[in-house]
Amino acid sequence: MTSNRNLVERTLRSVWHPCTQMKLHERMPMVAVSRGEGAWLYDFEGRRYLDAISSWWVNLFGHANVRLNAAIVGQLDRLEHVMLAGFTHEPAVQLAERLSGLTAGRLGHCFFASDGSSAVEIALKMSHHFWRNRGQPDKSRFVYLAGAYHGETVGALSVGDVALFRDAYGPLLRAGLTVASPDWRNAAPSESAAQVARRCAQDLERTLRERHREIAALIVEPLVQCAGGMAMHDPQYLVRARALCDEYAVLLIADEIAVGFGRTGTFLACERAGILPDLLCLSKGITGGYLPLSVVLSTRAVYEAFYDDETARGFLHSHSYGGNPLACAAALATLSIFEEDRVIEANRLRAARIDELARPIAEHRRVRNFRQTGMIWAFDVPDAQPLFARRFSAAALERELLLRPIDNTVYFMPPYVIDEEQAALLIGRTLELLDQVP
Ligand code: PMP
Repeated sequence: MTSNRNLVERTLRSVWHPCTQMKLHERMPMVAVSRGEGAWLYDFEGRRYLDAISSWWVNLFGHANVRLNAAIVGQLDRLEHVMLAGFTHEPAVQLAERLSGLTAGRLGHCFFASDGSSAVEIALKMSHHFWRNRGQPDKSRFVYLAGAYHGETVGALSVGDVALFRDAYGPLLRAGLTVASPDWRNAAPSESAAQVARRCAQDLERTLRERHREIAALIVEPLVQCAGGMAMHDPQYLVRARALCDEYAVLLIADEIAVGFGRTGTFLACERAGILPDLLCLSKGITGGYLPLSVVLSTRAVYEAFYDDETARGFLHSHSYGGNPLACAAALATLSIFEEDRVIEANRLRAARIDELARPIAEHRRVRNFRQTGMIWAFDVPDAQPLFARRFSAAALERELLLRPIDNTVYFMPPYVIDEEQAALLIGRTLELLDQVP
């Protein structure tokens, strides 16, 4: 019989964990998960943990969701996988049609891959190749925001600005151009979030005006820069960014890997600004948190720049599992749940209620910058002692909560099935943690 202890011991001998200094596990608990149900994860002794961060922001409708399970099992009986070069299958086509439909067909061409970082790599390569095919090969640089995070592969790290993830690999990375983040916490006294957005857009404008001849694309995480510390900005920034990219002939890449699929309150975060990018990256919630899948949606103009008799003008990038049928089936079921359960509307009420319940956190003496966008809540704890995030996480586990602060920023990104009782438990215990974790 597997036990927590046995599994952890075997893990430490054989598994190299992501985003982890393994030596830390000499002192820190690791949780052995035996099963999940709804918002809860269970270990082998029946202890439960509320998945308040949706397992790295992927799980939308809870663990062991009956409808998602059925969709995957149904697909499993027909076709588990086939390569997507030279072959096609129904789940990929249906998914591409439905995703494009969400943009009224304006982003009508879907390029599939298997994880978020790969989608970012695709968007970066595609942008440069687009300009190259159009006779402007010098457009090869990327602009990204201060505090940006777009994944961990070498290309994605090159447009990221989180020192902890980036610094060791500096010599491997291509220099990009960083512009000011419209994070509203940077507001001057009496400056509104929209004013911060417009001020930061001026910085973007300067960069584009001076360097547009060498710039292929601007990449942004619309509305919330998540891994950079849940920095939220006003949609005005996206409105300006879209206009400036058009003015200076620079492609706009929206990395909605974390913020898409309803996370910020609309299905796509860009909807809040009434804009569409040239390239849209989706992943994480796309399969409801079940299977790895990502996709880059592109405009007709981008697609057509590659459509040619010459092979090398095509986009020859590939991933073995891109557009996997099981993952596509999970994604189709995820989209159906959005429609059938009117998830966006339901989340509006859910978020308003959670926001109300969370008032005592906003008013806690240690808390600053309490903020919310859709189904994301975050706050800063400026008086935190060193290693706060680590100690907070460990203490949270003792109180049945899966939480992973980013430095001194605590955040909630719960699955969309979190109910009022679970939200009250999350908030009540977070208040205890704020009183007890220095
Ligand atoms: N972009 C954003 C905005 C992300 O939040 C992440 C993952 N946290 C990624 C890209 C990378 O996705 P993946 O971890 O699937 O490679």
